[in-house]
Amino acid sequence: MSSSNAELKRAIVDGLKHFVAFFILIGFVVTCNFALFFNFIQMSEAEIRKAAPITFINVLILTLLFCIIDITRRVWMVMRPVRRIRDGLDKVMAGDFSTQIQYIKGEDSDNEFDSIIKGINDMVAELAGVETLRTDFISNVSHEIKTPLTVIQNYAGMLQSPGLTEDQRKEYAKAIHDQTKKLSELITNILKLNRLENQQIYPDKKEYNLTEQICESLLLFEHTWEKKQIEIESDLQEDVYICQDAELLSLVWNNLFSNAFKFCKENGVVSIVVKKENDQVIVSVSDTGCGMNADTGKHIFEKFYQGDTSHATKGNGLGLALVKRVIDIVGGNISVQSVLGEGTTFTVILKES
Ligand code: ADP
Repeated sequence: MSSSNAELKRAIVDGLKHFVAFFILIGFVVTCNFALFFNFIQMSEAEIRKAAPITFINVLILTLLFCIIDITRRVWMVMRPVRRIRDGLDKVMAGDFSTQIQYIKGEDSDNEFDSIIKGINDMVAELAGVETLRTDFISNVSHEIKTPLTVIQNYAGMLQSPGLTEDQRKEYAKAIHDQTKKLSELITNILKLNRLENQQIYPDKKEYNLTEQICESLLLFEHTWEKKQIEIESDLQEDVYICQDAELLSLVWNNLFSNAFKFCKENGVVSIVVKKENDQVIVSVSDTGCGMNADTGKHIFEKFYQGDTSHATKGNGLGLALVKRVIDIVGGNISVQSVLGEGTTFTVILKES
């Protein structure tokens, strides 16, 4: 109420200022014209004095008319859009990110206010997305941390029970160990992703042997493929050199292999292809695992997304988000082909330099 009173007061003061300004302007113009006119037709002083009050009233009416026209123009063309923008911004400042300010003429008009409104609307939509991501991120992280913590708490409690056999003690200790490892991996991945997403990363490009790097990464999973008796098929073009950031790309291969071995069935096959085509390098990692349906395939690069199939296995849904971020940073491309129940192929295409 007090703010609308203040607005009214300001409008009246503004109106009066306008009135005085117009009055001086019109008065000056009309006086000059009349002075010239009277001088020209050589009227007597008495006649001029007689005509003066009528001229003054004319000037007053003209001033009022111009003043009303100008105020109406200002209210309609300036104050109305400004008020609409301000009301919209007030809502956004109060935390309502669903706000979209109504356009004055239309989204595509060349009205200056509409271009400001469009900018604000786009910014608010972007903020709404960021806000959703932030809240989703917090709830995902909390969930991912809470689950292993509950397991650790339960097993730690059981470890305290008297009369445990050696096997039970080992089993409970192993469960605690596995869950702490999972927690540590989760936090490492969050930190990596945070660094990749929030800092401007300038890839440290150096020429290196990609075939060698892929073999080294593959060997890290030797224990897993032996345990699951997975056959490895490789079609690696020898000594493919690439000028890229080796440390960033090792994240990609480690995650792709980790998933291939994780989702591959026992006695399955994991195939790796590395080849050079023109000035591009193509790396593909395939497995004869559980595969995924088209809907899962659409979301796998999102943070914390886990397909149904993965709930029975280890993971936190951050691996492929990291992979995608790295591929974007180095200017490459990643695609996935998968058939549910049959297997999956990830294909990475990188520029040679
Ligand atoms: P995580 O493996 O920790 O669940 P990722 O981000 O690495 O998280 O993968 C996201 C999801 O993509 C997985 O939960 C799984 O559903 C699907 N996925 C990834 N790689 C494969 C694969 N090789 N075979 C089948 N599904 C896969």
